[in-house]
Amino acid sequence: MNSIELRRKLHRSPELSFEEVKTQQLIIDALEAEGIEYRKIANTGVLAKIEGERGNHRRAVVLRADIDALPITELNDIDFKSEHEGVMHGCGHDMHTAILFGVLQHLNSNRDFEGTLFGLFQPGEELNPGGAVKVLEENPFEGYDVAAVIGEHVDSSLEVGEVGLCPGRFMASNDEIRFYVSGRGGHAARRTEIDDSVTAMADMILRTTSLNTPECVVSIGRVIADGATNVIPSLVTAEGTMRTFDREVRERTHAYLHNNARQVAEKYGTEVKVDISYGYPCVVNDVMLTYEAMIVASDEGIVVRELKPMTTAEDFGHYTERYPSLFYRLGVGKNAGGSHTATFLPDEAAMEWGERMMRRMALHILNK
Ligand SMILES: [Zn+2]
Ligand SMILES: [Zn+2]
Repeated sequence: MNSIELRRKLHRSPELSFEEVKTQQLIIDALEAEGIEYRKIANTGVLAKIEGERGNHRRAVVLRADIDALPITELNDIDFKSEHEGVMHGCGHDMHTAILFGVLQHLNSNRDFEGTLFGLFQPGEELNPGGAVKVLEENPFEGYDVAAVIGEHVDSSLEVGEVGLCPGRFMASNDEIRFYVSGRGGHAARRTEIDDSVTAMADMILRTTSLNTPECVVSIGRVIADGATNVIPSLVTAEGTMRTFDREVRERTHAYLHNNARQVAEKYGTEVKVDISYGYPCVVNDVMLTYEAMIVASDEGIVVRELKPMTTAEDFGHYTERYPSLFYRLGVGKNAGGSHTATFLPDEAAMEWGERMMRRMALHILNK
């Protein structure tokens, strides 16, 4: 089976995060047909392993693809359209998976390299806490010296034949924040008998959004104060998202939120609770790896676009916290449309470029 055939099979049978049972079997079947060693990981994922013919096998490179799909009903008119009602590979993870397979297939038949190559087919990228956490909990690379973890994402803002690279901070952490302001509700005309939970929340929100900087995004998108013209509610809730590119900025901003809550509570005599639901950590690219990738790409005739940090998030951030890592974007052309839509359709011509980029980068690091 070639990678395009695998991609179409995967596209036909998309599965939601952490439910990738058929997907796992398709990957296993493809690896077995090539005689590539593998084991299951993180329940519905697969970890393939290829040892090079030269040198010791302690030094390793991990190539990672995410394998899950989204709860979207596909509207593309193609002969490999999703056969699972309400589920679709609307983020291109079928392509990531197939590209990784293509790379493994190629390097397995030509093992003229040093060290160990891991192919990590990771489940559950689209759903908190992310499959990367489950993978790392199993400590699968214990005993190995991991020189790099490499991952990619398809990108329709780049043309086929282009890759997007960004040294250092690349993608944001994404935390969900919730505020709960409670106090004595009651008649809005009897100010001395109530705690003004609505004004306290308004103050809390203004303090929160004043924390916005180019390094940190904080937005409140939902506020519920279900009183009336003459009723102050006893509970006001608000929720929003917080994104940063740096671990320290993230922790500092969390501390500001808690501190603001204490000050608002004191000022209005209300109770203010802050609830932070941790999302993915920032994706921080190893700077040296990124520059090496720029050189490797250029040598391969791939056009390099230098990207600015993005405020979207990726559970790949978990790997970047632990190992030298590189995450880049693979151009799939503007006609692909927007990801996470029912008509997203990346150009398959990008796969050859994707395989070439990942394969060359793996060999470059392993043979260094
Ligand atoms: Zn996605
Ligand atoms: Zn994605």
